[in-house]
Amino acid sequence: MNIYCIKNSIFNSATYLISLNLSNNAFLIDCGDMQPISDFIEQNHLKLKGIFLTHSHFDHIYGLNDLAQNYPNCKVYTSYYGIDGLRDPKLNLSRYHDDVEDFIYQYDNIEVLSEKQDVTIDNNIIKILETPGHDLSCLTFHIGKHLFTGDSYIPNARPQYHFPKGNKKQYYQSEERIKKYAIEHELTIMPGHIY
Ligand SMILES: [Zn+2]
Repeated sequence: MNIYCIKNSIFNSATYLISLNLSNNAFLIDCGDMQPISDFIEQNHLKLKGIFLTHSHFDHIYGLNDLAQNYPNCKVYTSYYGIDGLRDPKLNLSRYHDDVEDFIYQYDNIEVLSEKQDVTIDNNIIKILETPGHDLSCLTFHIGKHLFTGDSYIPNARPQYHFPKGNKKQYYQSEERIKKYAIEHELTIMPGHIY
């Protein structure tokens, strides 16, 4: 398993591209700038199988329409609440970004994930933790020795829960849970922004 990290142009959000050695299958955690993703996929002859969304805020999903168009067999995995954000520019906050059009996801290739509903790709188990607080749609993904936390927990960053579907109490509960879980399983935290 290889992890390639892309620092996106909007808010330094992170896209992680995970490729599997034997099959050349690959999947993404979140999806910002389209070009570096497709460049890496083409150069390494990878097959993109899925996109796992840590939450449906604009800076983590803005490449999704282009990606779905270019890779029609690829599934988008999000939580039940994530669907609302994919369809609503106010919930995904694109409405409030300068110089950006409203973001509305145009495709139907969405799979809903919930806690303890693992996904397996080529024998790699992706464990799902529901970690609301930053946003109601927040999921954290445990893959191998890594924990992809999105904006649910970004070490050394100021907590962000002042969004339409954010909640301070839930935020700190999720943060505690993530920290404990990471220590318990000896995981490296891969956050949703790169500062
Ligand atoms: Zn966010």
